[in-house]
Amino acid sequence: MLVVNGVTKKYKKFLANDNLSFTIGDGEIGVLLGPNGAGKSTIIKSIAGLLRYEGDIEICGEDNHTIEAKRLLGYVPEMPALYDTLTIDEHLEFIRRAYKVEDTSIKEKLLERFELTDKRKKMGKELSKGMQQKVSICCALLHDPKVVIFDEPMVGLDPHAIKELKALFQELKAQGKTVLISTHMIDTIEDYWDVAHIMMNGRIAATKHNRADSSDEKSLDELFFQITEGKSSDEAKKEE
Ligand code: ADP
Ligand code: MG
Repeated sequence: MLVVNGVTKKYKKFLANDNLSFTIGDGEIGVLLGPNGAGKSTIIKSIAGLLRYEGDIEICGEDNHTIEAKRLLGYVPEMPALYDTLTIDEHLEFIRRAYKVEDTSIKEKLLERFELTDKRKKMGKELSKGMQQKVSICCALLHDPKVVIFDEPMVGLDPHAIKELKALFQELKAQGKTVLISTHMIDTIEDYWDVAHIMMNGRIAATKHNRADSSDEKSLDELFFQITEGKSSDEAKKEE
């Protein structure tokens, strides 16, 4: 369970997140959708405890700055930040020991899943952006977090890895985990989400739940373009 309550973040005078509040429950996939600059990475970094902000964020009931919350959280940053001279194996081993994960089979399964097993001796600086992204995802999942946040996870991945990642989102959901994914690409999110928040100018401009009985509502695409192309709902209605 992830709770974001009244989070405001300013970079000097610039308001990047304006009083954001949302909750994503266990076994739910939430999506933050919005154009570049909407404030998605800012709220994700705040959840990860990397920025100072006003407001409260809880991971499974724990303040996100506590060690307990950090144990429960997995974070895939927008830009993979690997060590140039550590191998893939060494990255995962570093994380495994830092989180005191006894079971080494989790590491092997992740490497296998993302087709990194035969590349495990390659160093960070030798990897393509896509491979770095895969290592970054493995690092975020190694300690079996209960809440996983992905910032633009599809960027740089090949189609097979994207397919694998989408399957992984569903698995995490089936395991009762909480998943939050940010993206500016509406066509990558298909139908695996439970709740989508459309962000614009640091605010949540609209929220849509993915429910069987919502066929009479605007589709996520319609809502997204209405908001990001700046039409008011009246103008949009006139065009219909
Ligand atoms: P998104 O991830 O939705 O593209 P960001 O959260 O990265 O958006 O950025 C939101 C806004 O905050 C943008 O206008 C961006 O230029 C600004 N911003 C982000 N990081 C910084 C920073 N470190 N210093 C100043 N402004 C920033
Ligand atoms: Mg971003």
